[in-house]
Amino acid sequence: MKAIAIVPGRPETAGVVEVPEPPLSDGSLLVRTRLIGVCGTDVEIAVDGYGAPPPGEERLILGHESLGEVLEAPDGSDFAAGDLVVGVVRRPDPLPCPACAADEWDMCRTGEFTERGIKERHGYGAERVRIDPRFAVRLDPSLGDLGVLLEPTSVLAKAFEQAERIGARAWFEPKVVLITGAGPIGLLGALLARQRGLETHVTDLVTDGAKPRLVAELGAHYHSTPVAELSIEPDIVIECTGIGELARNVTRIAAPGAVVALTGISHSDRLASDARLDLMNKTLVLGNKVLFGSVNAARRHYDQAADALAAANPDWLAQLITRRLGLADWPAALQKGPDDIKTVIDMTAASS
Ligand code: BGC
Repeated sequence: MKAIAIVPGRPETAGVVEVPEPPLSDGSLLVRTRLIGVCGTDVEIAVDGYGAPPPGEERLILGHESLGEVLEAPDGSDFAAGDLVVGVVRRPDPLPCPACAADEWDMCRTGEFTERGIKERHGYGAERVRIDPRFAVRLDPSLGDLGVLLEPTSVLAKAFEQAERIGARAWFEPKVVLITGAGPIGLLGALLARQRGLETHVTDLVTDGAKPRLVAELGAHYHSTPVAELSIEPDIVIECTGIGELARNVTRIAAPGAVVALTGISHSDRLASDARLDLMNKTLVLGNKVLFGSVNAARRHYDQAADALAAANPDWLAQLITRRLGLADWPAALQKGPDDIKTVIDMTAASS
């Protein structure tokens, strides 16, 4: 069968490879992959050499954002043939560390976790995959192809849950949310903010096109002005660009007691040389503000994300998928056009 694979750090090796059927050791559910979503992490793997293939192998099968259909499920599992499923990305540290033992692998203490399609474990980007039922999430069948948005939504479900839990350290009644970056993560963040009934502001560089329209359709406010010039005082900020300067600027305009979640990772080629961190330090201390990092998601966040997607307007969600490539053409997904939001690879179609 065919799979999408790459040698991390060598974008020219991106291609389609022939691989054996998935091993039973990957799990008892046999799944036919329908779609694979591509995100900034895949580009980091390709270009920066982030992630790693399984020990002893050179290539990594990509695909951590998945959607597939169950072909075979063992008796007694909660799954049946035909179910639409998404695979969880992270697998616990085999030790396991105390966080992984509590099924909070997203908070792993040792770094010995693995991630499908990212870190030392092949991804879901093969025509057929196997998944342990413990790491498979069943979707509302009416979501159809939009289920490929579950994994990125789980990352936001976690960021919001954590922001709310941190906020609960003292009086906290969030009303205003700021989201920086209107890519897929930012837009899904805006969706979750609106589902919570919060006044939602989204910033991005582009001034027109799909991003401002999608933000407006949610009943949220779009700004292409610099963060420092915004006249809002957000209670929660979800920073989705990984640009360190933005982390500093949003911290400055955030309300006293605000919680700022960082969900993006800076590209190695644009690491900030700006060291005005003392100012950020002072702003955080004097404002009782919290700046925290958030990565990955636990099983409960996938469930929260599945509920959020099921409650969303499917026509709005459909507009997030701006490009669909066939298997053979997948390397084109590593190049992002200005109007691209989410590119998906159709694992059932040879070419686009
Ligand atoms: C994925 C996470 C993963 C992170 C770091 C993100 O793109 O959504 O599941 O933990 O990359 O590898």
